[in-house]
Amino acid sequence: MNITPSKKNNFLPYAGRKAVLATMHSKHTAVAPALRAGVGLEIVTATGIDTDQLGTFSGEIPRNGTMLEVAISKTRLGMKASGLSLGLATEGTFGPHPALPFLAAGIELMTFVDDERKIVVSESFVAPHTNFDYLVVAPGEDLKGFLDRVGFPSHALIVRPNEGSPSQGLVKGILDASDLGRAIAVAASLSSDGKAQLETDMRAHLNPTRMQSLALLAEKLAKRLATACPECDAPGFGRTETREGLLCEACGAPTQMIATEVFSCASCSYREDRPRFDGLRKAPPGSCPECNP
Ligand SMILES: [Zn+2]
Ligand SMILES: [Zn+2]
Repeated sequence: MNITPSKKNNFLPYAGRKAVLATMHSKHTAVAPALRAGVGLEIVTATGIDTDQLGTFSGEIPRNGTMLEVAISKTRLGMKASGLSLGLATEGTFGPHPALPFLAAGIELMTFVDDERKIVVSESFVAPHTNFDYLVVAPGEDLKGFLDRVGFPSHALIVRPNEGSPSQGLVKGILDASDLGRAIAVAASLSSDGKAQLETDMRAHLNPTRMQSLALLAEKLAKRLATACPECDAPGFGRTETREGLLCEACGAPTQMIATEVFSCASCSYREDRPRFDGLRKAPPGSCPECNP
């Protein structure tokens, strides 16, 4: 697959430049190596910023806006605190898989803001793995299956009363079995049904699976930043949209499979329609609404 339309062999528009990563959760170690290797950016962290004001996974503060809006606001918090004109942030969301609702999935988004070139570049993906899960338990119940599945204690847990306000009796970042037992007992005693809810703590520094996803996403973003627009040479040229409608190989009807990928520039209005990346030019009849209704 070749997604590098630049005529330049070694396009490193950010070599040696500093960008601030807005994070309270040590994402720096996951994302800095890929951005340094891929596009020459040095990642620094901002001190004294509170990204939780834009929403928390555990729900005490609801997220206000789309993932992209929140990620850009977060990026700007870091840029303001550090005085740098380049910034980055990530935002994750976890729930049922968009295509396979019985599986859990994490969608991760990473934004890059460059106030000198006045561009915003973002990359997102469905994370290859996630431990996202939850369980309602009564004190004393056997938790072994759940704890193994979610990777406890290398991955942290959150405990809260099963019924009641989202912040009362909430304990986050649990990495120890005896702390877990105590938190369950307290949360259950505060819940009207006598039960506690356990859930995976998705904050990056307490979730090595998520850290791995963020490293992969940083690699993707670095590749994109190292791709110049064929028209104006701005960094960040890449896929921004897909269009469905791949035609059925048996009857020619349009299917819901992706037919076209739209690549566009973060700076100018240049766009390119390209056929789907995997070389598939017709849809199998099994995906056709006419042949396989
Ligand atoms: Zn068909
Ligand atoms: Zn351009």
